[in-house]
Amino acid sequence: MSEFRLYNTMTRSVDALTPEDGETVRMYTCGPTVYNPAHVGNFRTFLFEDLLRRAFRLRGWNVDQVMNLTDVDDKIIKRAAEKGLTIGQVTEPVIEIFHSDRRYLRIEDAETYPRATDHIPEMVALVEELMKKGIAYKAEDGSVYYAIDRFADYGKLSRLDTREIKSGARVSQDDYTKENAQDFALWKAAKEEDEKTEAAWDSPWGRGRPGWHLECSAMAMRYLGHTMDVHCGGVDLVFPHHEDEIAQSEGATGETFSRFWCHGEFLLTDGSKMAKRVGNVATVADMRAQGISAAAFRAFVFSTHYRKQLNLSPDALDAATEGVRRVGDFAERLAAARGGTPALVQIAAEAERDASEALFDDLNAPIAMGALFTFIRRANGELDKGGSDVPGLEAARHTFSRINGVLDIVPEGEVVDDADEIEARLAERREARQTRDFARSDAIRKELEGRGIEIKDGPTGTSWKRVR
Ligand SMILES: [Zn+2]
Repeated sequence: MSEFRLYNTMTRSVDALTPEDGETVRMYTCGPTVYNPAHVGNFRTFLFEDLLRRAFRLRGWNVDQVMNLTDVDDKIIKRAAEKGLTIGQVTEPVIEIFHSDRRYLRIEDAETYPRATDHIPEMVALVEELMKKGIAYKAEDGSVYYAIDRFADYGKLSRLDTREIKSGARVSQDDYTKENAQDFALWKAAKEEDEKTEAAWDSPWGRGRPGWHLECSAMAMRYLGHTMDVHCGGVDLVFPHHEDEIAQSEGATGETFSRFWCHGEFLLTDGSKMAKRVGNVATVADMRAQGISAAAFRAFVFSTHYRKQLNLSPDALDAATEGVRRVGDFAERLAAARGGTPALVQIAAEAERDASEALFDDLNAPIAMGALFTFIRRANGELDKGGSDVPGLEAARHTFSRINGVLDIVPEGEVVDDADEIEARLAERREARQTRDFARSDAIRKELEGRGIEIKDGPTGTSWKRVR
């Protein structure tokens, strides 16, 4: 088996990775703050993590992935207070949307989705440990802060010069209770708004609520132990979020918090070339309304390495859609074929090797996509010969399902399985037309078109057919 290599932000190099126990990769992926539906940029990160877990499984390992849901924070509390709601009433519908968006993009379920508000005791215990060790202190304002100059390794992930952090920081008025302007809040003393919105809990330091960094440390260690294999997030989380997670966790346990730190680059949605057609794609709902299929978005995201910035442009989406069409056509051709040629066995083996090696080499999705397309071109050439060799055909099917199973460009069994869902969407569209909500009915038509479904309205009703 080939080595699995992954870029580690901590070492700034591509290092060989094996799970600590040799079997299961324990990974923590920072999840959404459930205040608004997640932005497509967040979903680029979640897709990179989805591909990573699938690549781990392709390598033969199990995966134990934890993705937290941050369901208490300033913005959530502010909105709840404005609307006279509790934070739970604000976050519950957003959590629903997150999971439905995620499923639309065929992002696999993580093993656990812990919510911050369900883990307050673990967070309090972690702060107590830090207090006991003298790394945390309670300030005059009733909040508890982390003293960064009492953790020697502070700054090791982001490699920021901590002397600079400390001396360069100007003390703002809000910060007057802290010993050092850069100390961060572990536990925030409750304000009236927090109480009113049910965002306050008892603690040894009085009523209050956890800081964001604390949530991740406490939940990661609760589910994955003191040391996990891989911790992922967007590149914007390196500092301060991940730096602070390390300070809290390692400050408390004295052990390495995560063996690997992996960060996905940004999706740029404000590029100058942005045309009207994709100019307002901010969420998965926008994407669906514009008829951008999950397959096209996956292919688009995987066309660029996760450590490079990616521009959301109409041209790139068109190219991805065209690629998806080729993969879909090939899937149907493979399903319908009765035989192939003996040469397919070798072609399939080479494709599987090339795609796996690319994925195991710092998750090189564009190279893996290239291997898939090369395979399709070569296999189509063999199928054109109209052979009757069954082992060749079986090998091609097996390889296609292995590679596509990781990239998930064409959902397996889609042709049979999603007819019911299409009928349901058409029923929604009928209802929209009856209530003269033509914007909605157009949006549904566009969405289905994006998935390769052509709709015809006739005197006896609406019919549909698959056009790719
Ligand atoms: Zn986090």
